[in-house]
Amino acid sequence: ILSIQNLTKKFGYLTAVQDLSFTIEKGNVYGILGPNGSGKSTTLGIVLNVVNKTSGDFHWFDGTVSTHDALKKVGAIIERPNFYPYMSAEKNLELVCRIKGVPYHKIQEKLEVVGLADRKDSKFRSYSLGMKQRLAIASALLNDPEILILDEPTNGLDPQGIHQIRQLIKQIAADGTTILLASHLLDEVEKVCSHVVVLRKGKKLYSGRVDEMIASHGFFELKCSTNEKA
Ligand code: ATP
Ligand code: MG
Repeated sequence: ILSIQNLTKKFGYLTAVQDLSFTIEKGNVYGILGPNGSGKSTTLGIVLNVVNKTSGDFHWFDGTVSTHDALKKVGAIIERPNFYPYMSAEKNLELVCRIKGVPYHKIQEKLEVVGLADRKDSKFRSYSLGMKQRLAIASALLNDPEILILDEPTNGLDPQGIHQIRQLIKQIAADGTTILLASHLLDEVEKVCSHVVVLRKGKKLYSGRVDEMIASHGFFELKCSTNEKA
């Protein structure tokens, strides 16, 4: 679905991402794991075309379509969800449908996926943080993306909200959507992801299967070095 080769991003003298390469295959759940400032969000921003790369390359799908067209098949939540507080969840999603050119019947389908169908008439402002995040996920799923990208999907949520979002991500993946999420929590990657790219100071420390990483001899050192502040 996505291949990244030797990607580098510099902000002035600071190298946020350095010579990063990895590929995303259909059907898996990928985590980008690293401490604060390790380059996770920058990497996501580059492949979503909101941050300009300094060097290297990336290709969506088979590389035959432009990034602009490819991104129509990508769903992403890279910041806190932004909806109209005094409008219902359903009305908010109707707006998104109009902008994206998606038929309204998708709204009910996606609200059911995220477990908000019975609360669709409530105003967005009455939602808990976890519900707001689930609505954002419903919104990102409206056009049936092939891959869903999430930046720190459980940040700021209470334990129940965290559990619900993680379950939801696993369910969306089981239904056939590839997932790429960024997290600074090893626990999150262990619970949700099948594959992981570990970053520290913009460099790749490890990439591969999560179970193999945990079983490997180098895992303890990896754990120590990712827990350490960048
Ligand atoms: P976090 O866990 O805090 O979200 P992250 O892994 O997502 O961290 P990035 O946001 O990608 O890290 O940042 C990587 C480095 O690049 C950091 O040192 C950050 O301060 C720097 N950086 C990010 N965006 C900019 C920017 N627009 N201008 C200057 N420096 C930036
Ligand atoms: Mg970030």
